[in-house]
Amino acid sequence: MAGRMIIVSNRLPVTVTKREGKFFFNPSAGGLATGLGSFYRETGGVWLGWPGISLESARGHEEDIITKLGELSCKPVFLSKRLIEKYYYGFSNKTLWPLFHYFLQYAVFDQKFWESYRRANRLFCEAVLEVAEPDSTIWVHDYQLLLLPQMLREKLPQATIGFFLHIPFPSYEIFRVLPWREEILKGLLGADLIGFHTYDYVRHFISSVRRILGFEHSLGIITTEDRVLRVDAFPMGIDYEKFAYAPEKKEVRQEIKRIKRRTGNRKVILSVDRLDYTKGIAERLKAYDQFLEKYPSYKEKVVLILVAVPSRTRVEHYMLLKKEVDELIGRINGRHGAFGWTPVWYLYRSLPFHTLAALYHIADVALVTPFRDGMNLIAKEYVATTSADHGMLVLSEMAGAASELGEAIIINPYNFSQMIEALREALEMAPEEKSLRNYLMKNRLRRYNVNRWAHEFMEKLYEIKEAQQAFV
Ligand code: UDP
Repeated sequence: MAGRMIIVSNRLPVTVTKREGKFFFNPSAGGLATGLGSFYRETGGVWLGWPGISLESARGHEEDIITKLGELSCKPVFLSKRLIEKYYYGFSNKTLWPLFHYFLQYAVFDQKFWESYRRANRLFCEAVLEVAEPDSTIWVHDYQLLLLPQMLREKLPQATIGFFLHIPFPSYEIFRVLPWREEILKGLLGADLIGFHTYDYVRHFISSVRRILGFEHSLGIITTEDRVLRVDAFPMGIDYEKFAYAPEKKEVRQEIKRIKRRTGNRKVILSVDRLDYTKGIAERLKAYDQFLEKYPSYKEKVVLILVAVPSRTRVEHYMLLKKEVDELIGRINGRHGAFGWTPVWYLYRSLPFHTLAALYHIADVALVTPFRDGMNLIAKEYVATTSADHGMLVLSEMAGAASELGEAIIINPYNFSQMIEALREALEMAPEEKSLRNYLMKNRLRRYNVNRWAHEFMEKLYEIKEAQQAFV
C-alpha cells in the first residue's frame, strides 16, 4: 500500500464538546467510523475533519485538543463560527443537500455561501498538506468537500486520491441548475476514483460530466484533458454482526423486555430517521392516519413508535418540519386515541445503541419511506436485527438501499394508497414468507458489510492508479 492513509470528512469520528469550560471527547454517531476505523489505523494513518466545536470555543486550548485528538489518530480542522454558518449550514445544507435530494424549491443560491464553501475546502486542503507525503493515499468523503480532490491534486500530483459521495447524485436536469456546476465537477475530477452508492448516481454523474464539461467515458473510465479516472458504484454496508447479534446482548435483552411490557400484545410499527424533509416523515404519518381510518379494526392493536433525531435545528425548513410533525402526531393521537391507547409514541431525540437495537428487534414492521435518500442505513440495520420470521421492511424505491433490498415491500412514497396497503400487507404477512424474504436480504447484508465496502473501494482505487500508467 502506497504512503500513509489519510481520511478526510467534514466531521471527525470524535466529537469535541465544551461544558463549563471543560472539553469532552465522544465518538460521533454513524457507521463511517466503524467501517474505516481499522483501515486507517493499520496503515498508521490519520483522520482529518471538523471536531464539532468552533474556533472561538476552542481558542486558547487548541494545542490540548490537537494532542488529545492526535492520540486517537485524528487531526482537527478548526472552523470559525462564521465559516460554519456559511459553509456548513449555508452551501452544504441549504444549497447542495436540497438540490441533490431533488428539493429544488428549497435550494438557496448565494454567492457568499459559495465563497465560504471554497474557503472551507481550502482550509481542509491546507490541513491535509501538513500531514501528507507526495505518495499518500487520501480518501475524501461527502458533499461538504466536493472541491477538495482537485485542490489536493494541484499540490500532490502523485497522490492516490479517492472520493465517495454519501448522498444521491441527481439527474443532469437537476444538477445543471447549480450556478457553480462546472467548478464542482472539476473539483471532483481531481480524484482517481469517485464512488457512489448506486449505478443510477454513477450514470447521472457521467452524464453531467459529458454534457457540462464535454469529457467522454468508456465503461466508467472518464478521460479528461490530461488524465484518466474511474467512476463506480459501491453500495455502503453496515456492521452486520453488531446488529445481528445485538439481541443476544444483556443490555439489549433487558431493553426489549422493558419496551415489550409497555407495548403488550400490540403490533409495533417503527419509524426512525433524522428529522429531515427528505425522509418523508409527515407523509408517513398521514398514511398511518388514513390507514387507521380505512382499517379501524387495527385500532388499539397497533402502535407506531416514531423516533425523530434532531438535526440542523437552525435551518428554517427543519424548524417548520418539526412543527408539522408535532402537530400531525397531536392530531392523530387526538383523533384515533382511546383510554389506554396512544396510536403514536413520539421520541424526539437520539437513542443509545441498546434502545435502537431493541426497537429494531421488537418491531413487526419498519416504515422507511424517504422521498430521496443516498442509501438509508436504518433499513439495513433493521433487516439485520429482526428475527427472520418476525419483522418486515416497507421501503421507498427512492432510497439507494432499495437496489439491494428488493425482497422488502417496495413502495413509491408519493403514492398514499400504496403505502397504506403495504403497511397492511406487512402486518398480515405469514411468518414463512417473511423468513424467505429476510433470509435473502440478511445474507446479502452479511456478505457486503461496511468493511468489505471500504476494502473494495481501496482495491479499485489502487487498480485505477496502476492502470493510469498505461495511459501516460
Ligand atoms: N442512529 C443513531 N441514533 C438514533 C437513530 C439513528 O445513531 O437514535 C443512526 C442509525 O443507526 C444509522 C444512522 O443514524 O446508522 C442513520 O443513517 P441513515 O443512512 O439511515 O440516514 P442519514 O441520517 O445518514 O441521512
